Amino acid sequence: MLHMHIPNAVCFFFAADAVTSVIIPYFYGSCKCDDQERMIKMSVQPLIAYGLKKGLFPAEDAVYYENLITAMYGFDAPDALIAALPPLEEAPSLGALLEAYTVPALEKGLVPEDTVTQRDLFAAKLMGMLTPPPSRVNAVFDGLYAEDPQKATEWFYALCCANGYIQEERIAKDVKWDTPTAYGDLHITINLSKPEKDPKAIAAAAKAKSVSYPACQLCVENVGYAGRLDHPARQNLRIVPFVSAGEQWGLQYSPYAYYSQHCIALHTEHTPMKIDRKCFAQLLDFVKAFPHYFIGSNADLPIVGGSILSHAHFQGGLDCFPMTQAPVICPVVIPGFEDVTCGIVDWPMSVLRICGEECERLVALADAVLQAWRQYSDPAMKIF
Ligand SMILES: [Zn+2]
Repeated sequence: MLHMHIPNAVCFFFAADAVTSVIIPYFYGSCKCDDQERMIKMSVQPLIAYGLKKGLFPAEDAVYYENLITAMYGFDAPDALIAALPPLEEAPSLGALLEAYTVPALEKGLVPEDTVTQRDLFAAKLMGMLTPPPSRVNAVFDGLYAEDPQKATEWFYALCCANGYIQEERIAKDVKWDTPTAYGDLHITINLSKPEKDPKAIAAAAKAKSVSYPACQLCVENVGYAGRLDHPARQNLRIVPFVSAGEQWGLQYSPYAYYSQHCIALHTEHTPMKIDRKCFAQLLDFVKAFPHYFIGSNADLPIVGGSILSHAHFQGGLDCFPMTQAPVICPVVIPGFEDVTCGIVDWPMSVLRICGEECERLVALADAVLQAWRQYSDPAMKIF
């Protein structure tokens, strides 16, 4: 199913019909569960116990990570780091753990200033250290994908939550509700999760030397990047590869999700967004690869389009938007495409829904509509 939303901007949504949710255990690779339990009990360092419990690493790596973290603080033994942590409740949240681990980091000068930006840079560094390297993530993902694509994304999503890349605790602060309208329920979200930039951090970033690496926040070069005052730290970012329309793409999650499993599909090259025939094929290839997810694209236009037009990307996830649920108000037949079911959707903006069995036919029709729309103008209505 493809929705074309015209004419002020072009938005495209592809959706699989069924949206389901499954929860699976996501222990990292093959762990010996007895070992895992024993290490969780033995481990005195709360972040190591957390990593083991969440399956970020297997029991055999626990001592190794404990020593890495201890060395990062410049302590000679883990006990010294533990003694420097403030008291924690039993089974603390990741947010509480990171807060606690920042206390000695501030004292030791690892966090040079007590600002949200500096704290976030440090948290990503710490969690990046505990996150499996990209090759390992890809191997586990591929293994699960061979069984079931949804198992693979559930595991990957859980990993990105457990390592703090997805800011679950901050996202929980968002205010969300549905309100009924003539066109179905309108989903409203007041975004309270993304921290405001600290004025001190803004001033410091202005003084810092300008760096143009990575080229943008969607480039694959962000994986493992330490960040700086004007660029977020991405040591805990992982991107899994997939092929779309014969080109290399990557899948990652959004740290500040707007909806369930909000993911970003991005081109592995820093190439501009372009809505064209190939783009339709890429969108369809995504839903073929991940049939439980929907995918959509912003327009490749400023103001009404996406915020990062310099890098080809789409957004998707495990959700079903009201536009997808809205009924067709007026069926139409497009000459030459009698085999494709078309209709105008009951929606406050112009939306054409096209449904068909063959991807090539959907791509061809979507392209025909795009060409017609690009040539269309109605000066009286200020449409150019
Ligand atoms: Zn880029």
